[in-house]
Amino acid sequence: MIVLDNSDIKINNKKRIIKLLSKERELTKLDISRKLDISVPTVTTIVGELKEEGIVEEAGMATSTGGRKPVIIRFLPDSRYSIGIDLGRNYVRAILTNLDSKIIEDKSKELDVITESEVLSIMKSLIEDLINSMTNIENKLLGIGFSLPGTVNEKELTLEVATNFRLKNISFKEIYSYFKLPIFLENEANSGALAESRLGVARDLKNLIYVSITEGIGGGILLNNDMYRGRDRRAGEIGHMCIAKNGRQCNCGRSGCWETYASSRALIKDYNENTKDKVKKIDELVQRFISGEDTASNVIEEYIENLVEGIENLIFIFNPDYIVIGGDISKHSNIFSSKLSSKIFECNEFYKKDDVKILFSGLQDDSNILGAALMPILNSFGF
Ligand SMILES: [Zn+2]
Repeated sequence: MIVLDNSDIKINNKKRIIKLLSKERELTKLDISRKLDISVPTVTTIVGELKEEGIVEEAGMATSTGGRKPVIIRFLPDSRYSIGIDLGRNYVRAILTNLDSKIIEDKSKELDVITESEVLSIMKSLIEDLINSMTNIENKLLGIGFSLPGTVNEKELTLEVATNFRLKNISFKEIYSYFKLPIFLENEANSGALAESRLGVARDLKNLIYVSITEGIGGGILLNNDMYRGRDRRAGEIGHMCIAKNGRQCNCGRSGCWETYASSRALIKDYNENTKDKVKKIDELVQRFISGEDTASNVIEEYIENLVEGIENLIFIFNPDYIVIGGDISKHSNIFSSKLSSKIFECNEFYKKDDVKILFSGLQDDSNILGAALMPILNSFGF
């Protein structure tokens, strides 16, 4: 049992009231009291504080059920903002969101390859651009969340290693001392899983494996609504699960890793090895598949089989409600989805179709960065 003292209870009640108002948008104090089982005087005190902080406002009178007309309390999603940063192989993207996770500003910088010395200066200038894009937001900023492609140490504020990016030991303390804002670091797949579970297709689901398919493959594992990180935050490296003994050489030094067969980089590489007219992006390859090109069709068929190998392993280990596929291929779910599901459940003694739903992220390219921007909001308000 967790024992709460009075200040914990008050903070908890405040978070519950904000969460409820953010969902319902407008309520009277009596509605809040009844829905959350908190006394009316306590609700009145907390709503008074929230009004002072600018998070809610009074929005006229509700119809009376006898007696005085009650005041409507309205949630103000633009009362606070959050910053999310996504580090990719050849870009840094920064967004400003409101409390509804709506993207208000979106800035990015593309580079051929990002080096350790560039990472922090690019991030700093993008964050400054965001802050300067709106007047008087300094006091409304809750913090900065980072979605990073590797192992992070949130206590030390470092990105320890990003194998596919050849980046190591980047400290974010400088950004913290420069902006004087709370900083949150998360691995990109965990960040994506967080966004899917709060904003995306997997909202309100307890057990979810988020498979982030980009340069490599990362996994965000949500069990009973908690992110499973492992003993020292290294869980979820599903891209380095071996699917072929003595198979393809991986950047991690091992061979046969799933991501050497099923990442978006592997898909592009497989295609380019079979054609003279090379592509740089998945989108171009998909266009050729749609137009009926044989090479594109063969490569994609083979790719789906590689994807199935790893997804089946995940299903056997975790027995999840859903597997959500995010990253580069997620916006082409019309091509991958039905083939993937039928192959996974074909010749499968343990599972039937519909035992596990295979979904593609509806947040698409935004899931990792929205997860990053959610972290400061969750820290402040718990929703
Ligand atoms: Zn590997």
